[in-house]
Amino acid sequence: MNNAVTKTEDIQRKLEEVLRENESLRRQNEDLKKKNTDLQTETDDLKRKTADLQAETDDLKKKTADLQEDLSAAEANLKLTEEKLRRALKRLFGSSSEHVARDGDMYEQLSFVFNEAELISDTEPLPEETVEVKGHKRKRIKSGSIEDIIPDDAPVEIIEYRPDSITCAECGSEMEEIGKEIRRTLVLVRKHYKVREERFYKYACKVCNDTGTETPVAEPDRPPALLPGSYASPEAVANIMYEKFVMYSPLYRQEQDWQRAGLKLSRQTMSHWLITCAEQYFRPVYEELRLKLLEAELIHADETPLQVLHEPDRRAKSKSYMWLYMTGRYAKEQIVLYNYNESRSGSVPKAFLAGYSGYLQTDGYSGYNILSSAKRIGCLAHARRYFTDALNGMKEHERKGSVAEEGFDRIEKILLEEKKLVDLTPEYRLKQRLSVIKPLMDDLFAWVNTVQILKGRARDGITYLRNQRSTFTPYFADGRIELTNNRAERSIKPFVMGRKNFLFCNTPRGAKASEVIYSLIETARSNALDPYEYLLYVLKTAPNFPGSDITVLLPWNAPVSCRKIESETNE
Ligand SMILES: [Zn+2]
Repeated sequence: MNNAVTKTEDIQRKLEEVLRENESLRRQNEDLKKKNTDLQTETDDLKRKTADLQAETDDLKKKTADLQEDLSAAEANLKLTEEKLRRALKRLFGSSSEHVARDGDMYEQLSFVFNEAELISDTEPLPEETVEVKGHKRKRIKSGSIEDIIPDDAPVEIIEYRPDSITCAECGSEMEEIGKEIRRTLVLVRKHYKVREERFYKYACKVCNDTGTETPVAEPDRPPALLPGSYASPEAVANIMYEKFVMYSPLYRQEQDWQRAGLKLSRQTMSHWLITCAEQYFRPVYEELRLKLLEAELIHADETPLQVLHEPDRRAKSKSYMWLYMTGRYAKEQIVLYNYNESRSGSVPKAFLAGYSGYLQTDGYSGYNILSSAKRIGCLAHARRYFTDALNGMKEHERKGSVAEEGFDRIEKILLEEKKLVDLTPEYRLKQRLSVIKPLMDDLFAWVNTVQILKGRARDGITYLRNQRSTFTPYFADGRIELTNNRAERSIKPFVMGRKNFLFCNTPRGAKASEVIYSLIETARSNALDPYEYLLYVLKTAPNFPGSDITVLLPWNAPVSCRKIESETNE
């Protein structure tokens, strides 16, 4: 009997011991978890700091390169001035018989007197006229003469065109040269420029001329001009676009840069080239990309306010919007399209995505609701933002155990789990989602339904989750669908930060041109193309077939020469 009691007490004691041990282990486990979270935060911090340092280093490198460029430009300028002085002295005192050893034609054509009246008229919008080119109506720019803007010692590249055959079809004798037409364009390559002089030689049959009634004439085929009547070359326009949209160098700064190199290329002329090429050659490519986008299975969309008129003394009365539409991460043919519009109305994306019936991922903005045929997908990062905002507005002691804190923690946990799946194939990703993330999401939405909250940002978060619940369903049916719309937000961020506001000219026409140029650049980049090479390819190719086969201009059909690493061309 006594023995039995002792045994029971013994077991009781052991049980208590086990329970105590269990409790201590639980506490240890909790401590470890907290430490793990802390370490995670610290790691993230360090990562961010490393990235910042990297960005700073890159910045410094760029500044050094810029300074070096400035220095060599100044040196070149000095040489130029010395040369001019030497020539002026020679003209004053020296032997008039001495000829400057250069192309005689060009020397004659150069205008040494700078026409001030022309400079003033240059600040006015350039006049345009419409001309017929190979049966297509085209705008023709009267942009003055190239001789007005180049220095007297500008390098010239001469390309000579002669007829394929100069044998007279009438009598079989060899024709003789009777003259040539000259087309001169300005070529800009990074920090250098030259004049391209294309000479189109004409031939005529002398024998027939002397004996017959008609004189057969032969002429070479002419490659079409980029902008008929203007001295713009594909290299020049691609260069100006690259400097402005990739290197963030506004036209007035480019004007100054060229000025230092001796070139009087005005920003009005550059702006006109950009706008005309964007409208004439890029807009059809952009439109083709839009049609391709509508065939995508998944589109990310986002929008942000933008101030187009940035006059210093004017309030930002006219708020406009930059809309963004892009393909998902797994799309074979990547498309990134920016669309400038004065309105934030849902009718804007409705028109842009007319007829689209695939998945459309956005934040919670209700404007997208009128796109009834698209299958909507919500953004969990957007939901988290409501709770983050709520926590930021609370005092430390209010946070503990609050709805905001619980909402944030639950979403944070889901996003952390999703982050681990980022490199998996869509199929395996989906499998992992169903086993790991699905239960967490179900818990989240079950919790959301029980929450009683009447006011504040946390309530907005709860409302968002309640309303958007169904938009997260596709996420558990297709591994390619993202849980957040971060992809689109990253692409529109430069506009949110105001960093790219200057890309947009003061006029809606300039803004529309910029949207097209910037879209082509970003689309080229996301298809692993070098943006400069791709712009050059489009500008060189498009004038050859006005209005026809536009598909050869799409980034994924661009030649291998465009597939360079971007940094290689930044020299
Ligand atoms: Zn003949």
